[in-house]
Amino acid sequence: MSLTLATLVTDQFRLTPPQRDALKRLNIKTIEDLLYHFPSRYGDTAEARTIESLQKGDTTVIFGKISGLKTSKGFHSKIAMAEGYVEDETGRIQCVWFNQPYVAKMFSDGMLVRIEGKVSARQRKKLGAPLPSPTLENPVAEEVAEDTRDAKLYFSNPKIETVNRLPIGVGDSLFGSKEEEHTLYPVYPESRGISSAWIYHTIQKLFKQGLLDELVEPIPEDILTKYHLPGLKTALIWIHAPKKREDALSARKRFSFEEIFTIQLGKQQARREYEKYPTFKIETSDAHVHEFIRRFPFKATSAQVRAVETILADMRGNRAMSRLLEGDVGSGKTAVAAATAYSVMTTRPTIVDTDGKPVPGSDGRRIGNLQIAYMCPTEILATQHFESFIQFFSYMPVQIGLITGSGCRKFPSKINPKGWTDISRSQLLTWVKSGEIAVLIGTHALIQKSVTFKNLAYAIIDEQHRFGTTQRGALVRKNGLGGHTAPHLLSMTATPIPRTLALTMYGDLDLTLLDEIPAGRKPIITELVLPDGRAQVYEKLRSELHTGRQVYIICPRIDEPDPDKEAALIAKSVKEEAKRLKRSVFPEYEIGILHSKMKPAEKDAIMAQFKAGKIHILCATSVVEVGVNVPNATSIIIEGAERFGLSQLHQLRGRVMRSTHQAYCYVFTESTSGKSIDRLRALQNAKNGFELAELDLAARGAGELSGAKQWGVSDVAMEALQNLKMVEAARTEAARIISTDPSLTSYPELKKEVELRATKLHFE
Ligand code: ADP
Ligand code: MG
Repeated sequence: MSLTLATLVTDQFRLTPPQRDALKRLNIKTIEDLLYHFPSRYGDTAEARTIESLQKGDTTVIFGKISGLKTSKGFHSKIAMAEGYVEDETGRIQCVWFNQPYVAKMFSDGMLVRIEGKVSARQRKKLGAPLPSPTLENPVAEEVAEDTRDAKLYFSNPKIETVNRLPIGVGDSLFGSKEEEHTLYPVYPESRGISSAWIYHTIQKLFKQGLLDELVEPIPEDILTKYHLPGLKTALIWIHAPKKREDALSARKRFSFEEIFTIQLGKQQARREYEKYPTFKIETSDAHVHEFIRRFPFKATSAQVRAVETILADMRGNRAMSRLLEGDVGSGKTAVAAATAYSVMTTRPTIVDTDGKPVPGSDGRRIGNLQIAYMCPTEILATQHFESFIQFFSYMPVQIGLITGSGCRKFPSKINPKGWTDISRSQLLTWVKSGEIAVLIGTHALIQKSVTFKNLAYAIIDEQHRFGTTQRGALVRKNGLGGHTAPHLLSMTATPIPRTLALTMYGDLDLTLLDEIPAGRKPIITELVLPDGRAQVYEKLRSELHTGRQVYIICPRIDEPDPDKEAALIAKSVKEEAKRLKRSVFPEYEIGILHSKMKPAEKDAIMAQFKAGKIHILCATSVVEVGVNVPNATSIIIEGAERFGLSQLHQLRGRVMRSTHQAYCYVFTESTSGKSIDRLRALQNAKNGFELAELDLAARGAGELSGAKQWGVSDVAMEALQNLKMVEAARTEAARIISTDPSLTSYPELKKEVELRATKLHFE
């Protein structure tokens, strides 16, 4: 059978069962997977000492061949242990692993290994001599095997890893003496059962069998040259067997560029696809929208005005808008949505093709009202937006609908022109279809099949990271107007993600930043509270409550702790904590609870009471995270903060940044780990969500890039996200290629890669 990238590793090599399991855990099936399984770091044999030069107390590294591996039990203690000998050309030394008998199984005699640890000395037993006292390195000192063949020095519990070669002059090097300069060896991400050396040798075998000649370079030559990136074959050799550290680095750079570049290509292709369709030309003036903005009960920030004007400029063009509005919590995105929706609902436009020519039969009078859809991730939020839209638009003759899983509403009500009324779903859908309802606000219910619009000209998605591409696609394809007419799309998010990540994952959207917090708001005071500070915080809260403010208390769990579990390990629960606070801390105040297991009607009732000030303290899970707006609530306690992500904590904190009163956020943690306290401190010091996101990114070292899995990008690509220049280069080059060759006809290899990549991403 001929060897290709698609060949299964199991078909090509004889594997032991532990090796098979290990490959499975590493998700390596094909030869290609193996080739793209990159080392997590490189060791250097230049750091080695010779065995004969070792002295008691040295903490050091040696390389050698291992032999005599066996498991044994401590004579008195019965502690299971592994032992063996490592030898180089200058001598040999014993190694002992207490409590780790499996070491003897993971390695086998004859393997080349690297040993790192502290050199101990065994006291030779003399008859009647007292036993040495146990130490950390040697918890059962008296149990060390009584082998006196060589020196009394030994390594106790050293780190051990396989290597593919030994330093020159030590043992028989794999490469012999030809390659004196070459001292680096790859260390692959660990998985028990498979050694780094095995992976190294296997990949070298594949190279020798000519696998590299099969590969076709997907990145255009001119781009490689321009950015000094190594070609595919060179990069693969360099990443698995670098002669110099710089080579390994440039190989990694090439692979991260490639990944970001192909993500960008896919995103920009999708965008171009969307822009092919005719859209609604919204001919409206800035002066017109300013009349509306002047009606706001507050003065719009200049960031809000800029965002509105940018959006309207897009809508005046001949192509459907695709824009992402990123603004910290409380930056006032809803008002931007309302002002731009106002411009849409008050225009009688035409549908134009991409050259700006009106589509026949689509002149203003005939198509009538333009419609707006506003999709939110939760019912609470949808209801809240419905209410704010009523406030924004109640002076105009405009109909607004609300659709959620638990029912439908319409504004205005026939009986009460100032208020809304409940209506049936089928009635609402009829009016949406006929175009009478100008604005439809809702949850996912909005994208059900049965919902169709007459002229959906503007689709707004709030907290867009809560939705996937499919849901976004479903929303913009809601037009009943025959064929495809693409509405303008505004996605909004408060998720503070680093700029590089936004440019990559939202490569199909233009970005507008709402980077200004409305005037008059005082910056929030965030305090990290350790367990002994609890009582003091409660007293501060009491005085806030006393002046009429309200409080959120966020707990990680809903229910009472399971009594079987260790109490200290259990995070506070909403129900239990509410009871405790009522009983022994705030008996004089009304305490409500809110969590995701409650029925929508119950949740609404609680929110209504909290808004009305009847509930003073709301004890909730992170369901309040998204967009809930109660300006009088100015303090928030977050219990068990170490259990939340930084960006989630920031979103939670946003709940109390909604008014001109001083806001407080108390971050409670039981954790004593320096790392998690440092992480929480970033929350205390960062000025806004974007700064926080950059801090978070900078703090993550390679190898600890946990977000990668969540977003569906590799560790290598996560490294690129620390490099704004590279991300911008990838975006520019992708745009250039897509603008001349949108379907990548002249780049078949790239095309394949782009399609493959699209199936891997999950971040939206
Ligand atoms: P977010 O960007 O988090 O969605 P919202 O749109 O919910 O923020 O606005 C948060 C609060 O700020 C609301 O109460 C809103 O009325 C108010 N607001 C919005 N813009 C301004 C402004 N320019 N000045 C003062 N308050 C504003
Ligand atoms: Mg919002």
